[in-house]
Amino acid sequence: MAYTPKEIQEKLERALPRVQRPGRYTGGELNQVVKDWDKVETKVALVFPDIYDLGMSNYGLAILYEIINQREDSLAERAYCPWTDMEALMREEDIPLYSLESKHPLNQFDIIGISLPYETLYTNALNLLELGGIPLFSGERSEDDPLVIAGGHGMMNPEPMHAFLDAIVIGEGEEIILEIISTYQAWKREDKPRQLLLERLSEIWGVYVPSLYQAYYKEDGTLSHVEKVYKEAKFPITKRIVAKLPPPITKLIVPYIDIVHNRIPVEIMRGCTRGCRFCQAGMITRPVRERSVDEILAAIEKAIEETGFEEVGLLSLSSSDYTQVLELIQAVSARFQDRTLSISLPSLRIESFSVELMDALKDTRRSGFTLAPEAATERMREIINKPVSNEQLLETAREIYARGWINIKLYFMIGHPEETLEDVRAIADLCKAVLKEGEKLIGRKAKVTAGVSTFIPKPHTPFQWSPCDTFDQIHAKQELLKQELRIPGLKLNWNEPKETMLEAALSRGDRRVSKVIHTAWRLGAKFDAWHEHFDYDIWQEAFAQCGLDPDFYTHRPRLIDETFPWDHIDSTVRKKFLIEDYMLSKQGETRIDCRHRCFACGVLPTFTKLRMENPGEAWQCPEVTPHEERGKAKISSEEVG
Ligand code: SF4
Repeated sequence: MAYTPKEIQEKLERALPRVQRPGRYTGGELNQVVKDWDKVETKVALVFPDIYDLGMSNYGLAILYEIINQREDSLAERAYCPWTDMEALMREEDIPLYSLESKHPLNQFDIIGISLPYETLYTNALNLLELGGIPLFSGERSEDDPLVIAGGHGMMNPEPMHAFLDAIVIGEGEEIILEIISTYQAWKREDKPRQLLLERLSEIWGVYVPSLYQAYYKEDGTLSHVEKVYKEAKFPITKRIVAKLPPPITKLIVPYIDIVHNRIPVEIMRGCTRGCRFCQAGMITRPVRERSVDEILAAIEKAIEETGFEEVGLLSLSSSDYTQVLELIQAVSARFQDRTLSISLPSLRIESFSVELMDALKDTRRSGFTLAPEAATERMREIINKPVSNEQLLETAREIYARGWINIKLYFMIGHPEETLEDVRAIADLCKAVLKEGEKLIGRKAKVTAGVSTFIPKPHTPFQWSPCDTFDQIHAKQELLKQELRIPGLKLNWNEPKETMLEAALSRGDRRVSKVIHTAWRLGAKFDAWHEHFDYDIWQEAFAQCGLDPDFYTHRPRLIDETFPWDHIDSTVRKKFLIEDYMLSKQGETRIDCRHRCFACGVLPTFTKLRMENPGEAWQCPEVTPHEERGKAKISSEEVG
């Protein structure tokens, strides 16, 4: 039955006193945008497939919310997963999933935009669609159903979700969302079949319409090739980027309840040039583009006025690599010294982190300091291309403790290719050595928290050919660490191996895995990213019912010339470059930060024109001259370097 917003509101008034944290479900926060539903041509629901507390901190959706609402003819509203208590009540009381702003059910929107930054959200995405009254499979939707699109880092291998999504944004969404809305509006005015909309969308740079492509498999189960079935569809589907980062958003919605990050997020830089071989984000977000210090300061000023937040997060994949990081921190401290503003600068690199930067930060945050050596032996760090010496790390730790920080968080990964138990034992030794330095300086107050996650080989990285560790291997490594690190002052956090297994299977899955996702959801899988809800038995049953073996996706070593399910998605970092880098890792050879020497990863030949149109320092890739542009067809990857 279709309910009106008024009826939904009435049902909510009766239901909300019976659930935990009702503030998740009310909307009405400062800076939400509520437009006149009947006067706006296109309605977009931006959906995060987890609870409000997490979804409200999703920066990508906040950007899209502002961009869409700036258009007079469109509106964007928000929806999140209800927690299990609320979901049970919604099903019992027949309340469809609705938007927080106007309380319209999801199936009354024109476009549903789902953020999928990681794989363990997939079953929640199906749950959201069902709760919103939208057919789960793209092929089952009619002209009257919303267009269901998705984007986010998880979609750099979109195949496991291909059956549920009408279109997928590959890359950055700021410009493309406007093109999708305009294409949708033109189609709607013409009153033509839905297929025409899908075909038109597939012609947009960065849009992948899975139903317009066909995958073929070999007898051994690996992919043979992918073909497009609509001749104008893009092939390959090249990642979309914005040439210049648009001004940061400042009119952020201020929640009534505590969320994961209660702060002003300002993206200072996008992309990373370090080339860590395990890091998908570093590969798929190239090229590096920076914002100016002045633009960042102005954004913080405005956002404080608009929101009253007392913390700013200066975000990027590697914040201490921002060219003017010291000037930025000093300028923020000086400009806002009269106000209560704390600065968080996540993702600091040990080797680009200076004593001056520590001094600039020391009056602004006190809680803890995070460093991510990722591995503890120089051999492993050469394999993963994160060369930093233990002495450098210990020196940095000494400087941190000396400036009054008590707890240093150290992030490591186990399961890297070629890793031995000795490499794992070295993680424990290094943690102990850091703690010892702290104790020398500040005594028993010194603490170390070791966060040890498990490496998952991700698409579009030099390690995409590597097998993931087996359950037994991970278990043995974790047990070793637990034994070694049972020491006062040291805390160890780790991932459950079964959760790693699922993420590993989904991240390198092919189209057949969509059936597994659907089966698992039917069997009750949801909130797979939540330890207390995750049930690996359900997933094993789902794989079995679909006649697939999860080990095929997780532990199988790939041949170097294997065609991967995501090969038709062009991250612009070429496969040839990834192969070279994979081979270098096997020889223990590193590559330096490519800001100092371009290695011709493939980004520049793809974006030559954009680079030319944006000369100067904001892009960290080398400038391209008109001469190179004229001969573009002939530029080989080596020449660009
Ligand atoms: S084109 Fe060169 S400088 Fe730019 S990201 Fe690739 S390797 Fe780095």
